[in-house]
Amino acid sequence: MTPATTGTSVLAGGMPVEEFRRAAHEAVEWIADYLVNLRDYPVLAQVKPGDLSGQLPKAAPEQGEPVDAILEDFRRLILPGITHWNHPRFFAYFSITGSAPGILAELLCAALNVNGMLWKSSPAATELEQVALGWLRQWVGLPEEFFGIIYDTASVSTLHAIAAARELADPETRAEGASRNLVLYASEQAHSSVEKGAIALGVGQKNVRKIPVDASFRMRPDALGEAIRRDLSAGRKPFCVVATAGTTSTTSVDPVPEIAAIAREHSLWLHVDGAYGGSAAVIPEYRHVLDGAALADSVVINPHKWLLTPTDLSAFYTRRPEILRRAFSLVPEYLRTADDPRAVNLMDYGVQLGRRFRALKLWFVMRYFGRERMAAILRSHIELARQFAAWVEADERFELAAPVPLSVVCFRMKGPDEPNRRLLDAVNASGEVFLSHTVLNGRFVLRLAVGNVATGRADIETAWRRIQAEAATGS
Ligand SMILES: *Cc1c(COP(=O)(O)O)cnc(C)c1O
Repeated sequence: MTPATTGTSVLAGGMPVEEFRRAAHEAVEWIADYLVNLRDYPVLAQVKPGDLSGQLPKAAPEQGEPVDAILEDFRRLILPGITHWNHPRFFAYFSITGSAPGILAELLCAALNVNGMLWKSSPAATELEQVALGWLRQWVGLPEEFFGIIYDTASVSTLHAIAAARELADPETRAEGASRNLVLYASEQAHSSVEKGAIALGVGQKNVRKIPVDASFRMRPDALGEAIRRDLSAGRKPFCVVATAGTTSTTSVDPVPEIAAIAREHSLWLHVDGAYGGSAAVIPEYRHVLDGAALADSVVINPHKWLLTPTDLSAFYTRRPEILRRAFSLVPEYLRTADDPRAVNLMDYGVQLGRRFRALKLWFVMRYFGRERMAAILRSHIELARQFAAWVEADERFELAAPVPLSVVCFRMKGPDEPNRRLLDAVNASGEVFLSHTVLNGRFVLRLAVGNVATGRADIETAWRRIQAEAATGS
């Protein structure tokens, strides 16, 4: 057999193989240097809108270009416009990182480029997904009955939870279209993806009840019960409640056991959004973060948020996979193959047909770190957040704006909002650290999130020194 050639070169993926080897080695060298020297980069991209697009041609090239030129432009043009989520002083939103084993798996995943829509379309992709999610299920202490599937994001996982809930409560909707009468409950601190899911599925924004929270930003079960009773007496049909284990603003954890009892009383689907907080259950002394989740119908945890897995990878668990399947499968029962029932076809469990081999990176990450080291890393993030919170409390100019149950600190300078806004802008303009903000009880609050594999005590010391210095000059 003669291999494909161009001139005298053997081609690999459309590129002369020697060129591919050289460019790939060079890219890996660059990645290794980048990961070692992250602190030399400004965390936040120091560019203005249009800076990059103005430098790029208006149309793609007619003739191909050398890979060296593309790599050079990656360094020269693209990198300055990158906000470095990998930077150990990225404290904004939820600080996330990939990790070296995750990067290697992504490289191999791109090389294989399989589509895991059916078991048969790549058996290892489907089976490794089941195995890796089984391992993760054990790490966080969910019962064995939970079936796991990977979606791209928690938003999409939650959309699927709501779709399954609707299928259970109102099976006609699948064929007939939107039902007007269904009502969904989540706390006023729940992630916007809950409301987006309700919009996308035709439940309607008006039918999402935002349940008030207590002083620690946790859903109030009494208020949930009341809201359900009000809707029932108005002839509406409560069908789903979303509890959050680790809310996006403050990482508050809803009282899931109480919420589960109410959900059971009214036969509602209970979905637990543990996109961020669920990962903490890997630490034995933080298992309580998922208290009550075993009673839920579905749970989402994002390994791409706090388990060192490169984005994107969201783990969705449900104890009722047959309902999820009923919500989405278009394969009539009589066409189901009499194959081995263990041969799951993941395309039947959601909107998407094609699926990336995401499980590979989770498997690499879990094997490489192991549970103990993973737990130690997450524990260190929580300790760093606690340390930072202690500094905030010890400085009389500042106050904590919420409890610190996990690795996020919400804090502010005492007094009006405006100086706090200026403080955040000044701190971020330094390029040294990147923090974000939220609004709690109507007040502007700074937010420091720890979650990066490389973040150490010196990094939060730098952040606190910078904040103190800017607070001193700004006041
Ligand atoms: C981040 C977050 C989400 C959304 O996650 P994506 O994967 O970006 O969709 C949902 N819920 C909570 C609680 C989150 O913190």
